[in-house]
Amino acid sequence: MLLSPGPAATSDRVKQALLRGDWCHREKEFSALQAAIRTDLTRVLEVEQTHETILVTGSGTAAMEMAVIGSVRAGRSLLAVRNGVYGDRIAQIAEVHGIRVHSICGSWTHPVDPEAVRAALRAHPDIDAVACVQHETTTGLINPVDCVGEIARSSGALYIVDAISATAIEQVGHDMLAANVICGTANKGIHGVPGISFVLADSSAISRFREAPPRSVYLSAAAYLDAQRRGTVLYTPAIQVCFALHAAIEELSETGGVQARTAQYRRRADLVRSGFSRLGLSILIDAANRSNSVTTLRIPGGLSYERLHDELRAGGFVIYAGQGDLSTSCFRVATMGDLSLATLDRFIERLGDVLRRYS
Ligand SMILES: *Cc1c(COP(=O)(O)O)cnc(C)c1O
Repeated sequence: MLLSPGPAATSDRVKQALLRGDWCHREKEFSALQAAIRTDLTRVLEVEQTHETILVTGSGTAAMEMAVIGSVRAGRSLLAVRNGVYGDRIAQIAEVHGIRVHSICGSWTHPVDPEAVRAALRAHPDIDAVACVQHETTTGLINPVDCVGEIARSSGALYIVDAISATAIEQVGHDMLAANVICGTANKGIHGVPGISFVLADSSAISRFREAPPRSVYLSAAAYLDAQRRGTVLYTPAIQVCFALHAAIEELSETGGVQARTAQYRRRADLVRSGFSRLGLSILIDAANRSNSVTTLRIPGGLSYERLHDELRAGGFVIYAGQGDLSTSCFRVATMGDLSLATLDRFIERLGDVLRRYS
């Protein structure tokens, strides 16, 4: 059982969908499937009034790269809000493409300060877009994306949210709508398989994509959007991954949509965290700022990450290492994907056994 923050466990229905057969992306069947995914996705994520889907074959980083390079006009800059690996990646993407970057670098264990965003926007009038990660999967930290969005939009900058590990997991509504560009992936909270990601763009974002200079052949948001509006596709998509994505969207919709899915993630987080506290484990992030899906825990003395990982894996559970400076002191548990509460109970039991054996 995978307790990693993507790839996340998938249902039998999603796995079966992969076997629908060999399709050609130039035929009308694929065109209909793509159209269905594009509309069903915004509907299930409750942004259909404001946002349009651009699908891209590639992992979540592909969607982020498409969004970032399509959102900054020539001679302007990006403000990257950074308090973890994924915020750093946003800045890296811009730099590689020769886009000037201003950064707000905050602590990995605290939400970003929206006032720092306001100050940066005042200090640098060349900022054309602000990008922020909703759920920093690095640590399991939630950023105040709605406050940052209000400030970004009041300055006239385009607002990009990396919601890749937040869509269908964290509360939606106000904060989602504050973003002109929302990036997500088929896997993680949507419970499809990895290989397709998406950019949800509102009308301001779409205008901007047309104004930004071409920076990539493969990751041009404007070109993808035009092709997908016509019912076509530019390059060979991950067709079978689209089958699975559509099945996952249907499943999400039939099981009560994002409200029910988010509540389910909340229950899972409560279950594992009360288990962690019974076992005396300490959580890196303060309770008020924790996501619904990732918990970073300090590794107790006397135990290495490798030993903990291997003992849990022998019991059927795959945990995830800490990132960067946290790789030796912490481990991560993600309750993402098609998991039952009973599975999580068994995980806590097994974790307890391992801790007792090595303490
Ligand atoms: C998973 C993730 C990504 C994308 O990672 P890929 O490996 O490219 O799918 C980006 N941002 C966040 C916050 C993520 O959790």
